Amino acid sequence: MKPEDAASRCAAIGAGTRLLALLGDPVAHSLSPRMQNAALAARSLDAVYLALRCDGAGLPGLLRGIAAAGGGGNVTVPHKSAAANLLDRPTDAVQATAACNAYWWEDGLLCGDNTDVAGVRAAVRGLCGSSAAGMRVLLLGAGGAAAAALHALLDDGAEGVTVMNRTPGRARALLEALPHAGRATVVEAGRVGSGEAFDLVVNATSLGLAPQDALPLDLEDRGAPRVGAALDLVYKPGRTAWVRHARRAGIPADDGREMLLHQGAAAFERWWSHDAPLDAMRAALADALGD
Ligand code: NAP
Repeated sequence: MKPEDAASRCAAIGAGTRLLALLGDPVAHSLSPRMQNAALAARSLDAVYLALRCDGAGLPGLLRGIAAAGGGGNVTVPHKSAAANLLDRPTDAVQATAACNAYWWEDGLLCGDNTDVAGVRAAVRGLCGSSAAGMRVLLLGAGGAAAAALHALLDDGAEGVTVMNRTPGRARALLEALPHAGRATVVEAGRVGSGEAFDLVVNATSLGLAPQDALPLDLEDRGAPRVGAALDLVYKPGRTAWVRHARRAGIPADDGREMLLHQGAAAFERWWSHDAPLDAMRAALADALGD
C-alpha cells in the first residue's frame, strides 16, 4: 500500500470506530473484507472490517468480546458450528443448520444468524428467476454449505431435494438434523441416472476449488440426469470449470459469487439494521475476482 493511502485510511479511524471481524482459519484468502469495507464506505459508516485468524480456543473470547464492544462480524471454517453453540440468541437458520456465520450484540445478548441460507436463497432466485418453490433439486455435498442450501431449498418449498454425497452417511446425518426433511432423500454417489430430471442441480461440495479437481457432476455424460439449471456454490475468477462446462452444454449456470454477495448483505443488515449497498458490494467483489 502507498504511504498516502495508508495515511488517509488511518486518519479515518477514531475512538468511535466500530470493529467488525471475520473469525476463522484460514482467513487470508477471504473476499469479505474487500466487500464489507466497500459497503461501510458506501454507507459512510464509522467502522472497519478485518479478518482475524483464530483457533478454537480463541473463538469464544473474540466472538463475545468483539460483539459486546459494539461490533460484530462473520465466522468461517472451521468455527461455524462451534460459534452456533456459543450464542445467547440464535436465529431459526442457526438452529436448523447448527451453524453460525454472522454475529452481533443486541439487548445485552450475543446474537447470531446463518446468512449462508439467505445467500443460497438469493442465488437460486438470481439464476432461476424464482424461488425454489415447486422445484425438484439435486444437491451435491453434505457439509456446511450443503446444510445451508438444503434448509433454504426446503424452506422455500422445493418439491423434493435429492442429496448425493461421496460419503452417504454424512448426507443421511444432514437430513436427520432438519425439521422439514420429509421432502429430501439421499442417494448413493453416482446413483442418479439419465432417466431422471431436475429443475436445478447445486454443487455444495468443495470440488472446483483446486485446478485439478474433477467435475462435481459430468452433465454431458450419457448417463447424466437432465438438468434445468446449475448453481455452483464455489466461486472463481472467470467462473468455475463446472459452470463453464454447464454453459457449454446449454444449461444456465452461475458460480457462488451471488451467494457470497447476499450472505454478506444479509449480515450487513443484521449489524446495521438497514439495507446493504448491493451495487457497491457487487462491484468490490467483481474487482477482487478480477472480472
Ligand atoms: P465441508 O463442510 O468441508 O464439505 C465439503 C463437501 O465436499 C463434503 O460434502 C465432501 O464430501 C465434499 N467433497 C470434498 N472433496 C470431495 C471429493 N474429492 N469428491 C467428492 N466430494 C468431495 O465444506 P463446506 O463448508 O460445505 O463448503 C463447501 C464449498 O462451498 C466450499 O469449498 C466453498 O467453496 C463453498 N462455499 C461457498 C460459499 C459462498 O458464499 N459462495 C459459502 C460457503 C461455502 P464428504 O462428506 O464425502 O467428505
